[in-house]
Amino acid sequence: MVSYKFFIRGVVQGVGFRPFIYNACKKAGLKGYVQNTGEGVIVEVDDKEKLIRILKDAPKLARVDSFNVELTSNTYNDFSIRESKGEGFAEIPPDLYLCEDCYEELNNPSNRRYKYFFNTCTNCGPRFSITRKIPYDRETTTMNEFKMCRKCREEYTNPENRRYHAQTIACFDCGPRLRLFAHGKEVKKKAELDYIREAAELIKKGEIVAIKGIGGFHLACRISDDAVRNLRSINRRKHKPFAVMCRDTEMAERIAYVSEAEKRILESVQRPILILKKKKLLREVSELDTVGIMLPYTALHYLLFDFINEPIIMTSSNISDEPITRSDEEQFVKNVLTNDRVIENSIDDSLAKVIQNRVFLIRRSRGFVPASITIKFGEKTRSKKQVLALGAEMNSAFCIYKNGRAILSQYLGTTSNQSAFENYKRTVEKFLRFTNTKPDLLICDLHPTYNTSLFGEFLSEKLKVPLVRVQHHKAHSYSAAAEHNLTDFVGIACDGLGFGEDNTIWGGEIFYKNKRIGHLEPQLQLGGDSAAVYPAKMLFSILSKFLTKEERDKHMKGKFSAKELEIMQKQLDEKFNCPLTTSCGRILDAASSLLGFCDKRTYEGRPAMMLEANSTKPYDLEPVIKGNVLMTTPIFEFLTSNIDKDKKRLAATVQQYLAEGLYEIASKKGKPIVFSGGCAYNRIMSSFMIRKGVYTNEKVPAGDGGISFGQVSYYLANST
Ligand SMILES: [Zn+2]
Ligand SMILES: [Zn+2]
Repeated sequence: MVSYKFFIRGVVQGVGFRPFIYNACKKAGLKGYVQNTGEGVIVEVDDKEKLIRILKDAPKLARVDSFNVELTSNTYNDFSIRESKGEGFAEIPPDLYLCEDCYEELNNPSNRRYKYFFNTCTNCGPRFSITRKIPYDRETTTMNEFKMCRKCREEYTNPENRRYHAQTIACFDCGPRLRLFAHGKEVKKKAELDYIREAAELIKKGEIVAIKGIGGFHLACRISDDAVRNLRSINRRKHKPFAVMCRDTEMAERIAYVSEAEKRILESVQRPILILKKKKLLREVSELDTVGIMLPYTALHYLLFDFINEPIIMTSSNISDEPITRSDEEQFVKNVLTNDRVIENSIDDSLAKVIQNRVFLIRRSRGFVPASITIKFGEKTRSKKQVLALGAEMNSAFCIYKNGRAILSQYLGTTSNQSAFENYKRTVEKFLRFTNTKPDLLICDLHPTYNTSLFGEFLSEKLKVPLVRVQHHKAHSYSAAAEHNLTDFVGIACDGLGFGEDNTIWGGEIFYKNKRIGHLEPQLQLGGDSAAVYPAKMLFSILSKFLTKEERDKHMKGKFSAKELEIMQKQLDEKFNCPLTTSCGRILDAASSLLGFCDKRTYEGRPAMMLEANSTKPYDLEPVIKGNVLMTTPIFEFLTSNIDKDKKRLAATVQQYLAEGLYEIASKKGKPIVFSGGCAYNRIMSSFMIRKGVYTNEKVPAGDGGISFGQVSYYLANST
């Protein structure tokens, strides 16, 4: 007799894969066994074809990437599940929503987990956020602190039960318990549900409650002027839009438009925050024309909505640029709904947007991380290498490349912030452990003073491995190319800034593979970095090129004092602290200032997003291209001479002009085109590109959250 031994890789642990295989093989009368290993899952059976058919039906959370088959001479009398074995690199599954079966139990009075806040099963619940070590198992998670009761143990050991080897299994008798602090004092209640009811009451009264979730704490409050004003002063977010949680899509539709494509994302197992077009003003939540909405993803969230019948703000509990908090001690509000399950790995909510039915992941975090992404570049020659790419500075995320797979970290914030950087370094160390990686190559950004670049130098010395630097926009461009496996392509990369190869600031670039073949007109960025915060400085510098002082200063009204204008003029004359920039973001910002939408960046991308939010139908404006440079001064000549026209149409014209002009230069090569960088989140620009058949990032962020993935892709495509 012979058997067939399958070595299966992909997301196959912690997602109900083993019980699925067990039950399916039993049913099909196969003999053999299934076993978790450090590298994935082994299944040995006596009928190869039957198992291949079974694999095609794998549970929806599992993902079979590949399998090898070996012939063996073993024979078996039955089908069994064997003990897990071995060290290695099996993927830790991402944190998941509350599945339909668990939701059903939550609302079934005869079920023993009726209204249990931590209901989960093999198909749902936290995973990565509770993992301490690999392989993912009860003992290696923070659930190890809870000793299973007899009933849970029975379910856990019964292969026919939905909770067979569900590492997060718990119930009222043995699982995590809630605690509530109201106005700084612990509240004692008889029933678990009363804590949730009480927290809901506080929210309804207009108070702010910190609620422990999957990857960290949220701050929850009503959408009311007072509550939101209070919240903004507490977490020091002056203007930045807040995310809102709605019980279901129906509730979301009360405040926003939801298309079919958007509904699918909203209700997906990852449950990201989805940016939707507002129906109502909701001025206090978002100053833009959009609002970020997510649906509940834990039993606790659903239970809150048993008592609240309106959308509520659910924003991460942290101060400004600090990392999301995960412990009780870090909470800075007086009302806290917490529990005794430890969050081992903090992870923020993911953030997505749909443009022309295409998904853009602005923040790839909870629900997605740490699932790997396959890169086909350099598959044969370089798949042996283990690479650690460190990313950039904003929206930091690093990327590990191993065995042809890229594992991107969660969103780690702005690493110029010291505590964010500390968290970043700790997370790098963890991921190297989780993936059993010993990097033999490091990659960082070309920018010499990013903390992540300095960290790269430090690691390079410590580990004695080479450090490669990849230009920022090339990384953007390659991130999109790698997703679509394009090797002969033209890349358009647009964002706020990145260090250029000629020591100027880049940000509106066109490449043919790794060669720069076009860009936006270089402009003087008056005041250096401060022009990114005060876009009128950028505007001042551009308008000075073609307007008289008097004409120019009319447009500066209310933005600067006479004294300030004088200083700026002097700066410009002497070219003092006026670096050259080809940044697309700065052009959008300057236009936003000129049209009166935004004069200060109080959160990332604000001026450009305000421009986008205030756009309607563009006027016709032919892009001016000189050589392979898209001129941007003509935009401002047009705007200033038409300043009395419809501001919203003028706003749209700016974005349309840039998209058309960049595309025109890029299309000259006659190659497939990709569009990446933070400006790819711009609805007008990306809509234009998508209509022209341009490729965009769909799996990794187009913004700096995808840089490390792009660094790896660049390396794989360009090294020999
Ligand atoms: Zn479930
Ligand atoms: Zn139990």
